[in-house]
Amino acid sequence: MFKLVCGAGNEDAEYVKKLVFTYASAGCKLFDISARKEILEAAKEGAKLAGAEDVSYCVSIGIRGDKHIKKAKIDTSKCSKCANCFRNCPNDAIYNGQNPRPEGIEWKEGDSPVIIAKKCLGCGTCLRKCPTGAMGMEEKDINFREVLPYMAHHGANFFELHIMGNDKEDLARKWQVINECNPKYASICIDREFFGNKEVLGRIREMIKSRKPYSTIVQADGVPMSGIEDDYKTTLQAVAMAEVIQKAELPVHVMLSGGTNSKTARLAKMCGIKYWGIAVGSWARKIVKPFLKQDDFWKNKEAQNCAIEAAKKLIEKCK
Ligand code: SF4
Ligand code: SF4
Repeated sequence: MFKLVCGAGNEDAEYVKKLVFTYASAGCKLFDISARKEILEAAKEGAKLAGAEDVSYCVSIGIRGDKHIKKAKIDTSKCSKCANCFRNCPNDAIYNGQNPRPEGIEWKEGDSPVIIAKKCLGCGTCLRKCPTGAMGMEEKDINFREVLPYMAHHGANFFELHIMGNDKEDLARKWQVINECNPKYASICIDREFFGNKEVLGRIREMIKSRKPYSTIVQADGVPMSGIEDDYKTTLQAVAMAEVIQKAELPVHVMLSGGTNSKTARLAKMCGIKYWGIAVGSWARKIVKPFLKQDDFWKNKEAQNCAIEAAKKLIEKCK
């Protein structure tokens, strides 16, 4: 199973529509989207334009503290206007005063960075590249009690919870609402940035007590949102995380993510990992970005075909 990750924090409906159109045309059957009504509608439109009727939507949310519910925030008093954040954002979520960010925009002396919140995925690249400490992150939670049942009622049948935060009460509340939505599969997304194997496995064991065997997917996130290169090193941690889950012999399906790319399946097979699926986000979006960015994308058959071909090659390598 190949899952295209549009991004838990991606609220750019037009971009999601293009992504789903491209990957559904290439044969993808499962799409990970943010918990926003307009994003579900955009994804459905994209699938419809691709003529794909048998696709599934996985709605992704996070507990407090997890980076998937964070957005970048700038303290302008500390900003030296160096443009590092602007140049390194993988999702064009930072602009310099012109909104929406046009193609080929150049940074000029004296420009100030501004965050486009709906495009920000919370990946933290800008934070790491900021030399002055001006860039920070803030949490943007949703009204999950209202939104999740709506999404379930309107066709989402996978729900995913990113659980890497300290607020266990929030985890329990959100997991309960997800289970009340009666999804075909509930997915637990984990990584080891802040917690070791013992804590991660303990959380999973507790959560799957309320679920039937093999109705839960554990998404083994190597390094969340890190798949910006297509090499073995980038995907190594995803495979290592999957091995931790596999060794624990839990009644769950394992999906690789977080640094996944066209090398993931090969490395996983070399390491004897039996995976149920591979979720690809950053790399999958990066390879189609030059085509999707074109203003005339919906009329430009050549750009559409190039994007679909790139997506097909990736899906094939993820088998
Ligand atoms: S957190 Fe990531 S997506 Fe958001 S503005 Fe920073 S680099 Fe861009
Ligand atoms: S990287 Fe930091 S200092 Fe440089 S422009 Fe961005 S926010 Fe300002």
